[in-house]
Amino acid sequence: GPTANIRNFSIIAHVDHGKSTLADRILEQLGAMGERDKRDQTLDTLELERERGITIKSTPIRLTYRREDGEEYVFNLIDTPGHVDFNYEVSRSLAACEGVLLLVDASQGVEAQTIVNAYLAIDNNLEIVPVINKIDLPAADPEGAAAELEEVIGIPAEDAVFASGKTGQGVPDILEAVVKHIPPPTGDRAAPLKALIFDSFYDAYQGVILFVRVLEGSIQAKDQILLMNADKTFEVDKVGTFSPGLVVGQQLSAGAVGWVAAGIKDIHDAQVGDTLTGRERRTAQAFPGFKPAQPVVFSGLYPTDTEDYRKLREALEKLKLNDAAFSFEPETSEALGFGFRCGFLGLLHAEIIQERLEREYDLDLIATAPAVVYRVTLTSGEIFETQNPAEFPTRDRISNVEEPYIKLHVMLPEEYVGPVMQLLQERRGMMSTMNYVGQGKRVELIYEVPFAEILYDFHDRLKSISRGYASMDYEIIGYREGDLRKVDIMVNNEVIDALAVIVHETKTYGLGRKIVDKMAEVIPRQMFPVPVQAVIGGKIIARATVKAFRKDVLAKCYGGDISRKKKLLEKQKKGRARMKQFGTVEVPQEAFLAVLSTE
Ligand code: GDP
Ligand code: MG
Repeated sequence: GPTANIRNFSIIAHVDHGKSTLADRILEQLGAMGERDKRDQTLDTLELERERGITIKSTPIRLTYRREDGEEYVFNLIDTPGHVDFNYEVSRSLAACEGVLLLVDASQGVEAQTIVNAYLAIDNNLEIVPVINKIDLPAADPEGAAAELEEVIGIPAEDAVFASGKTGQGVPDILEAVVKHIPPPTGDRAAPLKALIFDSFYDAYQGVILFVRVLEGSIQAKDQILLMNADKTFEVDKVGTFSPGLVVGQQLSAGAVGWVAAGIKDIHDAQVGDTLTGRERRTAQAFPGFKPAQPVVFSGLYPTDTEDYRKLREALEKLKLNDAAFSFEPETSEALGFGFRCGFLGLLHAEIIQERLEREYDLDLIATAPAVVYRVTLTSGEIFETQNPAEFPTRDRISNVEEPYIKLHVMLPEEYVGPVMQLLQERRGMMSTMNYVGQGKRVELIYEVPFAEILYDFHDRLKSISRGYASMDYEIIGYREGDLRKVDIMVNNEVIDALAVIVHETKTYGLGRKIVDKMAEVIPRQMFPVPVQAVIGGKIIARATVKAFRKDVLAKCYGGDISRKKKLLEKQKKGRARMKQFGTVEVPQEAFLAVLSTE
């Protein structure tokens, strides 16, 4: 058929196992190196956005592979995001492929992300080409890594291709394996259009640019299309392929990977996972598995300077233009004033957005502790969802509370199993599987853990306990009941709403203690002692005091040495920018994150 010489595939791997390096080597061997930086084929408008520093997602790359016998193949190499926050996007990118290269670092073996990514590929019925990478390393054990792949995921060790993205060794074997083992796309070109959106970005002039995989039928300029889940219609302006950059073409038909511009102004109308079809000639069924982008982690963002409220809103609006998974709505805090409650796909997503707001938009922000979405059933029978501790009802009004759980995969050397299991127990984890692999030297742990318990410093703790050797990845699996309470924090006898946290009943005292101690440390001394208290339903469970200045301390600081005084003033000025005034007490940003530091 006409698609016999097309191969659509992706490279998946645990972080640092060599995905980018191998992709570059493949590009180089197929004569496309350098083109990645050659931008003349890219739309001008993209150039503009690049200058403004707006992140453009990495596009797929279309490559030509000429086999020794002269036969030519089109390779569409589709990139996937490399973080668990974006696993749904990864899964949709994989749905656009027929196969994957599953990379494993020969000196590291199978890691947690290797497993989770492999399962995403298996769930999408993809052909997996196992590649044992970095075989040039002195510590490489290619056979051992291949054996682990077989033990953990069931991929036959004998299928593995040994390679090095660094030296290029084995790369020709990888290209051959792509042709031989990854099937060409199939799909009826004469059928009504059916195309999967696997990524998109917003362009100020063209509107939303959709990255699509055409499954059936074809699409070209002037076509009237329907976005099935959004139930919106548009007229196609342009279609094209990636080479790299966006190259305008005539038509995309079944099997093709390309882009579509259709004057779509709102990225929320064109979400990843949605299906394109003809407005008149419709496909019978949308591509399965569509999930509207749904934030799972929420945090309040407040400008340190109240005058920046409008600037913050404008910045959030701009970011949202290009990010269907990010949400925000105005919120008011008694303590922090006017701000926004923001929703993210995960902690990394939250960090990225916060950093962009501070760097690109020059905003100084106070962020409240991240929270998950709780499902609360009241004694009245009413059910509601909340991700805002300030809105969490008191215990007497609650019939039950449910919280999100994750399935957590951890891979680690055997000697750290004890302490890691202890950490997981502290985080209310329940073991579901424990597998010894690699002749018993390494262990795969699968736990079910409340999502809220790994939001804070879990990853850092895991790494430090295992001297950096443990790796983790997770997926959200659903809601379960939990005995959860709201802990309020009072500073100088005033409740600071933005500091409230929701914790499990067994942890209220411990956490209350830690928060008040930490806050007492970071709140600057006043002329009078300041009480800091943790409170549940009016009952004080922990208390600490910010001691008053002593006169001689003041004298020491502000007398004498001019440069020292200047330094102190400088420091104060900086600190002030990140503080909020509570009555006469200033509370620094650090205090709002006190809840996050459990050590
Ligand atoms: P990614 O996170 O999977 O994209 O990994 P990168 O391609 O960024 O590689 C991570 C690190 O491993 C970098 O320091 C690379 O230089 C190194 N690396 C990648 N491939 C190889 C390889 O085949 N051999 C060796 N020795 N190092 C490699
Ligand atoms: Mg990379």
